[in-house]
Amino acid sequence: MSDELLLEQALLASYVQYMEQSGSSTEYVQPREAKLEVTPPASIDTLKKLPILELRAEDLKDPVNRECCVCLDNHEIGEKAVRLPYCGHVFHQECIHDWLQRKCTCAVCRFEYPTDDVEFEQQREERMKCSSPRFSRHQLVRMPFPQLLELIPDERDDADIQEMSQVELVEHLIEIGAVDLINIPEPTMQYSMTELRKMSVFQLRKLMNKEAGVYFEKEVTKKEEMISVFIQSGRLHILEDGTSKALQSQEDPG
Ligand SMILES: [Zn+2]
Ligand SMILES: [Zn+2]
Repeated sequence: MSDELLLEQALLASYVQYMEQSGSSTEYVQPREAKLEVTPPASIDTLKKLPILELRAEDLKDPVNRECCVCLDNHEIGEKAVRLPYCGHVFHQECIHDWLQRKCTCAVCRFEYPTDDVEFEQQREERMKCSSPRFSRHQLVRMPFPQLLELIPDERDDADIQEMSQVELVEHLIEIGAVDLINIPEPTMQYSMTELRKMSVFQLRKLMNKEAGVYFEKEVTKKEEMISVFIQSGRLHILEDGTSKALQSQEDPG
């Protein structure tokens, strides 16, 4: 008999003795086990829509992305890899799939990706409310000034703030930790949602694969899913409807 088992029996015996002496029922109640904190896997939908990129030099500019943190092999320009959408970390497709099927957190920064666990999702959303919003520098630079001001916790009416240029305000937001900076290179393509939705599945696939170097899982077959992967890839800047060149030229042929 192991030492642990002997100890457990001795504890149980003294517990029963105590209950008998104190006149309580001798029925032994198994103490409720403390619930273990288990991180669930990423949701099926998250795994399905992970953007697969043909790596470019700018994708590997951040030293942390030069190797896959799961297998420690270097990434090469031109090879296909997954870039996680909300933190920008790059991994081999197989490596990050295996990883996220076990737990929903990024292997580099531990950012929590969506899960299918209802209870965990409630806690995750609460945690997200307490953390700073995540943006890349180019997203902040493009953001309208009033929207940038809204990211400042409490000093937004400060005269100094009002006089700042867009770039100064972006740097200020980063400096005070009002935003969490993610390292995703500036997108090279711009389309509006209307333009993307007008494309056929074939056209959209061709644009994504051939021009943007963005690929997706074979389970992604619907146009809306493809658009969602394209947006998550970080290689596309979504234009407000009516601001794209194509639409402007249609409206104003002269
Ligand atoms: Zn790897
Ligand atoms: Zn990450």
